[in-house]
Amino acid sequence: MAKFPSMLTSLSFFIIILAFTPYSSALGGGSETSSSPPQCNGTAGGCRNNSEALKLKIIAIAAILITSMIGVSLPLFSRAVPALQPDKNLFVLVKAFASGVILATGYMHVLPDSFDCLKSECLPENPWKKFPFTTFVAMLSAVLTLMVDSYAMSYYRKRNLDGEVKRTSDENDIVDGKLESQHCHGFDVAKTGDNASQLLRYRVVAQVLELGIVVHSVVIGLSMGASDNPCTIRPLVAALCFHQLFEGMGLGGCILQAEYEMRMKAIMVFFFSATTPFGIALGIGLSNVYSENSPTALIVVGLLDACSAGLLNYMALVDLLAADFMGPKLQNSMKLQTWAYIAVLLGAGGMALMAKWA
Ligand SMILES: [Zn+2]
Repeated sequence: MAKFPSMLTSLSFFIIILAFTPYSSALGGGSETSSSPPQCNGTAGGCRNNSEALKLKIIAIAAILITSMIGVSLPLFSRAVPALQPDKNLFVLVKAFASGVILATGYMHVLPDSFDCLKSECLPENPWKKFPFTTFVAMLSAVLTLMVDSYAMSYYRKRNLDGEVKRTSDENDIVDGKLESQHCHGFDVAKTGDNASQLLRYRVVAQVLELGIVVHSVVIGLSMGASDNPCTIRPLVAALCFHQLFEGMGLGGCILQAEYEMRMKAIMVFFFSATTPFGIALGIGLSNVYSENSPTALIVVGLLDACSAGLLNYMALVDLLAADFMGPKLQNSMKLQTWAYIAVLLGAGGMALMAKWA
């Protein structure tokens, strides 16, 4: 809700930094160029064909846009299937699968990318190889995510509680607060408050998660858009389609349980689907000036990846997996728990396999 403007702001901030990458690196990294390996100047040989590459990139934009939309919408339509209602066992398994995908996105995609960037040959030895910046930033970002999580919850709980007290004193329990209006019309005040804060939690999770995923999606699109090598782009088109399909299913599962109204769902679906195509378009536009291996690009992308890795790992483990597995539904059935673990491993395994390509 109020988070979207800030998400867009941070994204555009990121883009502005990247746009200035070549200039600042030309200023800052001048002394390093003589000693750094030749691939750091971005002139690796091999097959290059600008018009062929551009054609493939335009195909990729369309294909990735469509597959992302399918992936993220798929869980949202599960409401129409009777076997996938929230109280059914199959729904629990779908959610476990989605959580596994998010977990693997953090551990298998974003974290290694950050290591690759910050440990690159193209960065100066000091300080980048003297200190594990990736894990340091990821750790801080995990704590920060916890802080956002806990402060947001206590703030809304307090506000909600005040509302409840006021309402019961007015003896008017027909008027519902904003949050619980779609969901529960319970007579039990404590229970209503619990459900509302649970729903609120799902909403915070869905939005913060989307933010964490967006970073990776823009970066993979950007590196494809900036490349003019058809031999590497061609297999990447298929890989990125699967990547976004899978990741979309993970995110879709979380948007589903946040129970947004139609408009908000549409915004989140569109925002996720547009990020990789947007990254590709940005890469095409900047392909003359943007160099993946310039020190500034490596540092900015590496640090952003480290931030989103910490965020994704925390969210996947605490907000998605632990919340479900320690919850009453799974605690009451060892058999369902086992199946849910299999679903987690399938989701995580599938996404891990995709780390081979993107
Ligand atoms: Zn990836």
